[in-house]
Amino acid sequence: MLHFSYGVMGSSKSAMLLMQHYNHARLGHYVALIKPSIDTRIDSSTVYSRAGLHAQADIVLYPDQSVYEQLMWLSARNGRNDLPYVFIDEAQFLTEKQVEEIADLALNEEIYCFGLKTDFMGNFFPGSAALMRLAEDISEVPGGLCWCGAKATMNTRIDSAGNVLRTGDQILIDNQQEIRYIGLCYRHWKMGKSHV
Ligand SMILES: [Zn+2]
Repeated sequence: MLHFSYGVMGSSKSAMLLMQHYNHARLGHYVALIKPSIDTRIDSSTVYSRAGLHAQADIVLYPDQSVYEQLMWLSARNGRNDLPYVFIDEAQFLTEKQVEEIADLALNEEIYCFGLKTDFMGNFFPGSAALMRLAEDISEVPGGLCWCGAKATMNTRIDSAGNVLRTGDQILIDNQQEIRYIGLCYRHWKMGKSHV
């Protein structure tokens, strides 16, 4: 089955992914951690959560790569003839084609995707749009709060002065300096109010 757990910036989705990955590994399941190549936080192969948990990705997936071929390569390297339970972090960065591929793979496998639903303009990422279309199990990772205390649902790009940015490239990695991402409630995202 294809699972998609989405959450806003500041929710615990990477931590939840890492805990589920760990729990399966502890049960003796064959697991694989995948990370799309676009995210350069820390380093390209570490899955990192704000809560401090981290793990090394088994596969860093590039946009032109087949998920199936990469899993076959991993299984061959591990001397196995089966496919693992798959955990994908930052799944919004998958291409539409990759999501269509894993939807078919998930007929015979458990594939868990975690990521953002929408970008800083409130639009779907191609990967999350495809996951919303095709995943059989969709759930929201709770925990993201706006500064006002309300549930955060909108990913917001802000500059170093806290101004809400509304235009720019869809993908711009958080470098903690020129830009940052925070979660806001819909009201304060709409108002462009990133703090009290
Ligand atoms: Zn708010």
